[in-house]
Amino acid sequence: MRALYWNGVNDLRVGTVPDPTIINPHDAILKVTLTTTCGSDLHFIDGYLPTMKPGDIIGHEFMGEVVETGPEVKKVKKGERVVVPSFIVCGQCWYCRNQLFSLCDNTHPKPELQVPLFGYPTAGIYGYTHAFGGYAGSHAEYVRVPFADNDCFHAPEGVPDDHVLFLSDAAPTGYMGADFCDIKPGDTIAVWGCCGVGLMAQRSAYLLGAERVIAIDRFPERLRLAREKCGSEVINYMEVDSVVETLKEMTGGRGPDACIDAVGMEAHGTGIQHAYDSVKQALHLQTDRGTALREAIMAVRKGGVLSILGVYMLMDKFPIGAIMNKGLTVRSAQQHGQKYMPRLLEHAAKGELDPSFLATHRFSLEDGPRGYAMFKHKEDGCVRSVFVP
Ligand SMILES: [Zn+2]
Ligand SMILES: [Zn+2]
Repeated sequence: MRALYWNGVNDLRVGTVPDPTIINPHDAILKVTLTTTCGSDLHFIDGYLPTMKPGDIIGHEFMGEVVETGPEVKKVKKGERVVVPSFIVCGQCWYCRNQLFSLCDNTHPKPELQVPLFGYPTAGIYGYTHAFGGYAGSHAEYVRVPFADNDCFHAPEGVPDDHVLFLSDAAPTGYMGADFCDIKPGDTIAVWGCCGVGLMAQRSAYLLGAERVIAIDRFPERLRLAREKCGSEVINYMEVDSVVETLKEMTGGRGPDACIDAVGMEAHGTGIQHAYDSVKQALHLQTDRGTALREAIMAVRKGGVLSILGVYMLMDKFPIGAIMNKGLTVRSAQQHGQKYMPRLLEHAAKGELDPSFLATHRFSLEDGPRGYAMFKHKEDGCVRSVFVP
């Protein structure tokens, strides 16, 4: 089959690789119908996240048609149209039984690569470094889905593919980030980042009862989507002296009730702190530039909630004093997609959370490297590149 693979730092290629096969009785093989880029892919493409090997097929957000199932697969059948959350989960362990799905204890075949950094391994993820399991990704004609009964969700009839696709990751991640905020009537939620996840977090915050949502980014076309598709008020941080002061002014001096960071370790910023972070990251003295997260910590009201969706590894100058003295609640996770999927499918059926506007650009799989370049550089207002294998 044809697949898009990582060949080295900033070197993606398309080539012919062996087809996936059923390895375990709970596996299914999907013919991928749509798959999309994700901001977190950029971290290993450009070498900030290590443990990629040349030839690794990338991609973790996808939907497809079931073409083969192992003998123990009961709930999904050949020919069915399904969407798959990006974390692979067993459905049986303590974490799965407590709906902490991205922390599944049984789907990371190489825990020794994560334990030194995190203390315990997370669940495995498709196409996302050997530190996250080394599974083959979805930017291919076919993909193997382990534990298919837990991880394949039937796509509702009448809901189009470019809507269903984003239920794989962007929508549940954003929805989870808003859910973390324990939103009450009258609440104001600030969201850093108008990427797919950030936009979904904004829309979800309204669905969960927020009165105001304020979005922070620097790209006018993304801020326009935040305004028009999500109903958010917006701050272009290139046009204000201080995001924190602007948020204070917009909230009568009190600050947002919760702040969601949908940016992560490669935050862009302005000023001396950003310059310091960039130099340290370039010298590999820290892995993460934390402009967005630091701003969120400073801006959130006293006693508020900090919801972290952006990907981080290690950060320097982390303002723990502000978290402790302001009495903040910090909540964070990689997406527990299997928990949120039933709710999202219901919203999808009612037309309440339609993420299809994220699919700004479409490519064949053969054009994958160009699709990633456009996505990375946000050319032509690209929010997500979608591949049709
Ligand atoms: Zn993703
Ligand atoms: Zn599990």
